[in-house]
Amino acid sequence: MPVRIIAENCTGCKLCVQACPYDGMDIVEGKAQFNDNCTMCGACVSSCKFEALVLDLPKKEDHDPTQFSGVWVIAERHDNTLASVTLELLGEGRKLADELGTDLSLALLGDEVAELAQTAAAYGADRVYLAQDPVLNDYRTAPYADVMTGLINEHKPEIVLVGATSMGRDLASRIAVRVGAGLTADCTGLHIDPDTKLLVQTRPAFGGNIMARIMCRFARPQMATVRPRVMKKLEPDLGRQAEVVEIPVHLNERSIATKIVEVIASNEGQQVNLQDADIIVSGGRGLRGPENFALIRELAEVVGGAVGASRATVDAGWIPAYHQVGQTGKTVQPKLYIACGISGAVQHVAGMGSSDVIVAINTDPEAPIFKVATYGIVDDLFKVVPALTQKLKQALGK
Ligand SMILES: Cc1cc2nc3c(=O)[nH]c(=O)nc-3n(C[C@H](O)[C@H](O)[C@H](O)COP(=O)(O)OP(=O)(O)OC[C@H]3O[C@@H](n4cnc5c(N)ncnc54)[C@H](O)[C@@H]3O)c2cc1C
Repeated sequence: MPVRIIAENCTGCKLCVQACPYDGMDIVEGKAQFNDNCTMCGACVSSCKFEALVLDLPKKEDHDPTQFSGVWVIAERHDNTLASVTLELLGEGRKLADELGTDLSLALLGDEVAELAQTAAAYGADRVYLAQDPVLNDYRTAPYADVMTGLINEHKPEIVLVGATSMGRDLASRIAVRVGAGLTADCTGLHIDPDTKLLVQTRPAFGGNIMARIMCRFARPQMATVRPRVMKKLEPDLGRQAEVVEIPVHLNERSIATKIVEVIASNEGQQVNLQDADIIVSGGRGLRGPENFALIRELAEVVGGAVGASRATVDAGWIPAYHQVGQTGKTVQPKLYIACGISGAVQHVAGMGSSDVIVAINTDPEAPIFKVATYGIVDDLFKVVPALTQKLKQALGK
């Protein structure tokens, strides 16, 4: 058992009973005792003030891979809609589940979010594990990690996929430690190895200079985070149905250390919605200075696009970091990406290489950006960009 009770330290104070989301704890003759509902989620451990509960992290020999099956995606919500990354992961999860001949499930936590199960079904889920409680309305690390750890311990999925977002990165690492699983962050590719049936997780390593392929041979589940806009959503099939498994959880607001006082929308997101943009015009060091981003902004405005940037320009302080595209910036997948004065370093391409159409403008015919470009213009951006803007203004009647 990963959680142990040290009876001589237990005072029977009931804090663990209040902290347990699954009603899995009782006080019997003044001492804590697990009952049949216990999922070993570990929520009780952090609630105990007397060191009467201890979490023993699972070792690799504690895992029996034959007991684990199914592919899971952990849902991320924005208000009452599933986040785009969740739908993308359902598309990828569907492919993996079909390769393994198993089911695809969505773990959906929240309050009054049951109608989202239909969306999950349309985007590929066979089953939705639905845990609802007012405490789960907004994301907070502790209750989400407690409920998810319990769900994983109980249902034993073999693969768990999470968005590499602020929420996903925070949650996935916490769960992985509790269940003793390996976790590969920021994967750019996933597939099933045909011989071993293990998940092959591809991600950039050593500053993006190599693509590492990582497999978890022993621990289960195999866990990966994937950035938004890396995987493709399926076309929704509104006729699909998913089985909904309601998970009874009872969370106590008083036993949760963090409170959400106010949610403040970030201006940053309003100004630059790079990840949702259909057209991105990006500038690099070829612009020679911050003032010349005006050329990029003008072209972006004419075509109704967003402004992107290479890290070199961000590091030089020419433009704020939230415009950065690439391995340490945003991953984007627009219909059209126009790269102006960007060399096409591997770390930049990691963030934009899967755009539908790439136009590169660069004076150097050997620049690596031309290897990924659909159309290349070998010329001076200070000539090409204003001319392009002018032509497009005329063509679009602006
Ligand atoms: C761990 C790590 C993470 C990184 N993450 C990122 C990331 O997320 N995003 C990112 O972008 N980079 C990232 N980098 C940096 C990356 O390696 C490159 O240094 C960076 O992308 C270069 O930016 P650039 O193309 O603007 O500049 P340069 O490489 O200097 O290229 C400028 C280009 O402009 C062209 N040019 C010059 N003048 C003109 C002109 N008048 N007209 C047309 N073309 C012209 C030049 O031929 C050249 O190709 C990372 C690096 C590391 C080590």
